[in-house]
Amino acid sequence: MPGCQQNHGLVKKNMRLPVKKAIWEQSQKYDCFYLYDEQRINAHLEQLKADFESIEFFYSIKANRAKGILRNIFSRGFGADAASLNEVNMANSLNVSASRIQYSAPGKQVADIRGALGIATIIADSIEEIRLIDKIAGEENRHVETGVRINPNFTFTDSTGNPSKFGIDEDQILAFLRNRESLHNLEIVGIHVHLRSQELQADILGSYYEKMYRLACSVQEATGDKLKFINMGSGLGIPYSTRALPLDTRKLGRTIAELATRFYRELNGTRIILETGRFLVGESGYYVTHVLDRKESMGKKFIILKNTLNGFLRPCIAQLITRYASNENLAGSEPLFTGNDCFQFIPLSDSTERETVSLVGNLCTAMDIVAEDIEMPRLKIGDVVAITNAGSYGAVLSPMQFSSQQPPAQLMLASDNTVVDADA
Ligand SMILES: *Cc1c(COP(=O)(O)O)cnc(C)c1O
Repeated sequence: MPGCQQNHGLVKKNMRLPVKKAIWEQSQKYDCFYLYDEQRINAHLEQLKADFESIEFFYSIKANRAKGILRNIFSRGFGADAASLNEVNMANSLNVSASRIQYSAPGKQVADIRGALGIATIIADSIEEIRLIDKIAGEENRHVETGVRINPNFTFTDSTGNPSKFGIDEDQILAFLRNRESLHNLEIVGIHVHLRSQELQADILGSYYEKMYRLACSVQEATGDKLKFINMGSGLGIPYSTRALPLDTRKLGRTIAELATRFYRELNGTRIILETGRFLVGESGYYVTHVLDRKESMGKKFIILKNTLNGFLRPCIAQLITRYASNENLAGSEPLFTGNDCFQFIPLSDSTERETVSLVGNLCTAMDIVAEDIEMPRLKIGDVVAITNAGSYGAVLSPMQFSSQQPPAQLMLASDNTVVDADA
């Protein structure tokens, strides 16, 4: 859909001056790289801490696992949402305690469970897995406290559920817990639900949290025991589009505080956990690349950039989906696709001449397009273009082996304004 990004080509969205300076300096050394702004990450982290008193936050490692980012976030008191044994080990090696690493993923294997026992809280994803963890715990002479992931009878907006590959249906787990089927070495002490990401409306998240509190009460009724934790997953969205309004975290924090008061009798002392990846890191990141070539073909101007599809995949997918779908308000398919105007292309150019161009990559596929027919200053070979919102699901989600190009560097602008290897 030509023109869909037309309004956003030149918006220098919230780019701090030290960031711009670092991008410029590093672009002299690297053909393409990610730059993460640590100060921005810290600002988002402090915002959550301030707005949600008595809530525990876990960082979802899969959003961005660069070591420097993990070290910083965990040192500031966040726990870890781990999606694999490797992620469990990353958090463990950074001294996050077992009760503050939760390992939730479908299809865990025996080695995953053995590896995680003792260093993380495992969230069982199926009835089969509950039995498997119980068996392994027995073999290792352990008593294990786990959580269980539930597929509830509701969504963010509806009061009925959907079939899901994640977790155990609410009715199934309640029946299982009521029957007190013989588990010898395992105790279910918490629940985990994660239904979707990228919600910007505090009211919708608030009503979801209320449903979660009610679900926790049902689970407690079924077991007769008080839950130790309720992990309500993620959903905290960020304004990718320049037209989007940020999530009102203060209002949402007040909603949770009210729920805690209302459900005090049932749930006092129960840890309430929220997970987030993108809210901390998404807006902190820029993907920076160079103009390699330019050409005009049959009346259309192409700017050829270094490593786009294979450096930062998400803008390419947005372009692909927008091209085939006529609907302006396409539903997101996270983490691959959020919407059709989620990335701003910021040229570091002082040209006053403007032109309409398509931004494409240097791969041998015609699908390597990140923007079609957008207005930009006239770019010349060697110029630098930065793409916004590259901090989450950027490097981790891009097919960097494709075409055997040199992958982009990952750099961090540290709080003291030095630039360091983000992954060291
Ligand atoms: C991916 C994931 C998250 C993080 O989602 P964001 O949108 O990045 O905040 C949280 N919880 C679970 C279970 C996830 O799989």
